[in-house]
This record gives sequence, C-alpha cells and structure tokens, in this order.
Amino acid sequence: MLNLLIIEDEPAYIDALEVSLSREGHQLAAAIDGKEGLEQFRTEQPDLVLLDLMLPGMSGLDVLRKIRSDSDVPVIVLSAKDSESDIVTALELGADDYLTKPYSVRELMARIRVAMRRSASEGDDSALTVGNAVLDQGRYQLRLDGTTFDLPRKEFELMQHLMGRPGRVVTRDHLLLEIWGYSWGDSKTLDQHIRRLRRKLEQVDGSPTITTIRGVGYRLDS
Ligand code: CA
Repeated sequence: MLNLLIIEDEPAYIDALEVSLSREGHQLAAAIDGKEGLEQFRTEQPDLVLLDLMLPGMSGLDVLRKIRSDSDVPVIVLSAKDSESDIVTALELGADDYLTKPYSVRELMARIRVAMRRSASEGDDSALTVGNAVLDQGRYQLRLDGTTFDLPRKEFELMQHLMGRPGRVVTRDHLLLEIWGYSWGDSKTLDQHIRRLRRKLEQVDGSPTITTIRGVGYRLDS
C-alpha cells in the first residue's frame, strides 16, 4: 500500500485519482494549496507527491523547493501545457517526472509505478545475480565475470526486470509500462535497448542470453 499526497486546486483531478488509487489499495491525501500541502507533507510523510504547479498563493515551484530542501521523496509535477519553462525549472529543482494536463489517470498511474520503482531501486544497493552476471543496483553496473559495463538507466531497468525473473518470460507490455510508463504505441525503442544489452552480454563467453518469445516478450536464460 502506498501513501500518496496530491497538492492540486482542481477537485476533479483529485476525485478521479482517488477512485483509481483506492481500487489498487492505496491511500490519497489531498491539499488544495501549497501551504496546506506542506503541512500535510510533514504530517502524512507520503511515499510520493503529485504536485500541481499552478496553485493559489504559494506556487508549486516554491512548494517543490521546500520539499526538496529536506526530502528525496518522488515528486511528479502536474502542469498546464503552456508552462513549459515551469516544467524545466521543476525538473531542475528535482522533480522526478511531469505530466501535462489534461492527462489520463491511466497514464498517471503508470508514471506513479515507474517513479516508485525507481526510487526503490535507488535505495537498494544489493546485487542481482544470474549465472556469471551480477547487476549492481547501487552503481547501475552490469558485471560479467571480470568485465564491467556502466548501464544507461533504461538498459539498467530492463536488465533489472529480466534478472529479477530468470528463466521466465517477461512480456513486452509489462516492460514498456514499467520502464517507459506506457504499453501502447511505438515499441521500437524496447527492441533497440534489448539489442544493446545483447551486444554487451555477447562480449563475455558464458553470459546469460536474452531469448525473444515472438509476440510475447523476453526471457533471460543462464
Ligand atoms: Ca491548478
């Protein structure tokens, strides 16, 4: 169960999210301005914050600054389309992700899952091991025997999913949703990332292989 906080002055967005979250067993606290939001942030200690940038009184950016001054909690910024510079500022201030309004609750739920998983893996310094492959989750590194590869974030997350279920099929839809935050549209980028991982695995004899299950997904075989 997750504890989420939304700071948002439009009740319709809060209501829609509340329904979807409670269906998945999560709890939502809501605040309609920045001052109340910060108070709730302190009392509720949420696992994730959804923050509207256009708020009455204190701006969303100021709320974000306050939150980041003493917390690494994942923050997803919600913003109107015409405030691109605010989004850039929010990301610079340490927001984890953003969505422009109007957004679909389905997409927001996917982004929440991505942000939560990312934050969990950042706090987890343990290693995943399959055969000769060791994924160092603190360093974003893949070690194959004595050879070390620094993995870009998406490749790392892909390897994390495959190594977390060795010998079992991980579906394309699952990977797209968990890593990129959507399960529809263009999936060529997933193919490219799989290809890059395979090239690394092939450089060291005896490494696990990524098997394509046509039309379904991938399986890591040791
Ligand atoms: Ca607003």
